[in-house]
Amino acid sequence: MSMKIYNTLTRQKEEFVPLEPGKVKMYVCGPTVYNLIHIGNARPMIVFDTVRRYMEHKGLEVNYVSNFTDVDDKIIKKAIEEGVDVETISKRYIEECKKDMAAMNVKPATTHPLATEEICGMLDMIGTLIEKGHAYVAADGTVYFRTRSFKEYGKLSHKNLDDLQGGNRSLLVSGEDQKEDALDFVLWKPKKEGEPYWESPWCEGRPGWHIECSVMSRKYLGEEIDIHAGGEDLVFPHHENEIAQSEAANGKTFARYWMHNAFLNIDNRKMSKSLGNFFTVRDISEKYDLQVLRFFMLSAHYRSPLNFSDQLMEAAKNGYERIVTSVDNLKFLMSNAPDAEMTEAERALAAEAEGFVGRFDEAMDDDFNTADALSVIFELVKFINTNVGEGSTKAFLHALKEELVALSDICGLIVDKKEEMLDSDIEALIAERQAARKEKNFARADEIRDELLKKGILLEDTREGVKWKRA
Ligand code: AMP
Ligand code: ZN
Repeated sequence: MSMKIYNTLTRQKEEFVPLEPGKVKMYVCGPTVYNLIHIGNARPMIVFDTVRRYMEHKGLEVNYVSNFTDVDDKIIKKAIEEGVDVETISKRYIEECKKDMAAMNVKPATTHPLATEEICGMLDMIGTLIEKGHAYVAADGTVYFRTRSFKEYGKLSHKNLDDLQGGNRSLLVSGEDQKEDALDFVLWKPKKEGEPYWESPWCEGRPGWHIECSVMSRKYLGEEIDIHAGGEDLVFPHHENEIAQSEAANGKTFARYWMHNAFLNIDNRKMSKSLGNFFTVRDISEKYDLQVLRFFMLSAHYRSPLNFSDQLMEAAKNGYERIVTSVDNLKFLMSNAPDAEMTEAERALAAEAEGFVGRFDEAMDDDFNTADALSVIFELVKFINTNVGEGSTKAFLHALKEELVALSDICGLIVDKKEEMLDSDIEALIAERQAARKEKNFARADEIRDELLKKGILLEDTREGVKWKRA
């Protein structure tokens, strides 16, 4: 069966056909880095990492790009509050975000571009849009996109331009009174006192939010890509504006499939700091292994709203532990099992067990139905628990364990817990990391930190040196 994806653009499930056979170009809008990521941000990270893993399991090569928005009003505000520069804030929270990603077993993207490092490309695309008449410079130097010049505006969010004009007063943002039309949006804006800024042909200033994704996607993946993804709040205006910018500048279809995850709520209410129901991923890690959070996120279809509660997290914990226990049991049985070949009966059972892989794939092929895919894993656990025992051969136990671990791994769930690391091994790795840093081999230093994180060891760089703890 072929893979089907629900495309927000067409509002239907479509067969996935990549632009280039065997390869997938995928862009996922990443977080704005001014704080630790919250569990809402974790949903797209986990969901689209699972999409990527499944595609890789199907033999596709995925070029996965996810940005960090590292200049924005919220980051500037935080920098002012702390009396530090914007880069200090963004660098700090990118580091912290990467730690959370590793602990949730979210693979690093092929490329994680930063908005501040792509200004040149933004100036270039804005220049093209002005040249083509899709953008204009206002008297104060602000560059606006001329929304009505892009005839297909609204095709993603299924909004009609005239309804938008009439119904949305919030489009008339203060300070943007030099627009030709209330629907126009900012591509470049003049600097304000104390803000970071870059030279440009129009004014010293900084980019609007939407332009970075159009530019980074083109630079790292090309003018046409397969999948563009993010949370459903990004459909309008962010993704609608990205389409307008990219398609007006490049004259080509921007992305073929648009995927959006539904929101995560807490106790059936919108997550918000002011309501006091707001959790960072780090908060959750104090109470649960983040694999439990991952399991929880995958227990619902990504397009269904997901409610977070203690009760559901406890259920996720039990579910996850059931798989881990089954793997532990297989390992225990293997340590005492005879080294013989599989018996006739075992061979038949092993063949039957392979059927679970087909059913798992069927669920995932249907727009990544992870809820059903997890059910198949549970059926496999049940099958294993009823069919293995002290008389089972090592070969049989091994085959079942490999299958259970492989399916869990496609979901990014680590169920084959390695033996706990000894303190001396941890300290040896920390020393190696320090040495790598001294030699400016940051890639190796990061690799060691991630390796330790995967084993549940958190590192903290303090003035007194590196401290570590078990998560
Ligand atoms: P932001 O940093 O606000 O740009 O968000 C980064 C990503 O997290 C975007 O894809 C958002 O759509 C997504 N996101 C933010 N809040 C939630 C939430 N409560 N549930 C699901 N996704 C969210
Ligand atoms: Zn984006």
